[in-house]
Amino acid sequence: MPEVDDFFRLKEYDSLGREAMLAKSAMDEELARLKRREAELAERRQLLATREADVRTMNHKMAELDRLLTQRLAPEAISKLEEEGLNILVLQQELEILIEEDRTFLAGFSVTIEDIRRDIYNKISELRLKEKIALDRQKALIPELPEGWLVSYQKIAAKNPAHGVFSRIQSQQCQFCRFAVSKAVESEVDTQYQLKSCSSCGRLFLPYKAVAG
Ligand SMILES: [Zn+2]
Repeated sequence: MPEVDDFFRLKEYDSLGREAMLAKSAMDEELARLKRREAELAERRQLLATREADVRTMNHKMAELDRLLTQRLAPEAISKLEEEGLNILVLQQELEILIEEDRTFLAGFSVTIEDIRRDIYNKISELRLKEKIALDRQKALIPELPEGWLVSYQKIAAKNPAHGVFSRIQSQQCQFCRFAVSKAVESEVDTQYQLKSCSSCGRLFLPYKAVAG
């Protein structure tokens, strides 16, 4: 016959499952954080490469202008080329400033990302350990649960209901969904410690002795 302690074990099984789930989602979050930082770094590197390529293109253009200027040209053509050259020089100077900023940023960030990476990996291994401990403790509880309880639990847990898988009977109603519960079921739960679920929301009824604690 089941006893009230079986409900405490089931509650523990449930809270360990949630602990493991929280550790898992925290791990996912940490990984996403690392990914974002690495994407930021890659993006800036790409930006720098593009700007450097632009400068090279401008250098070619300047060389080309210089070559043209050595030829015999009409004065208007010369001043047009000179104006073009001046514009390129201005753009080039602006680009050089941005490139300098990119390099400073990348030099700093490359050091920082190492710290971030180490920090995140440490957190992840802590979380992985936490998850493993919770799952191991969960597994150890399984043989101690009355027959069929795990299946009933998993059925409702799979739906991941808001506010958890447990309910209780209050004034012959499910505390959560207010669905009517017969006196017979109430007594099966409270005095025989049977695992019963609400016919409406599917949550498992805790006997009143197992509600506290
Ligand atoms: Zn219910």
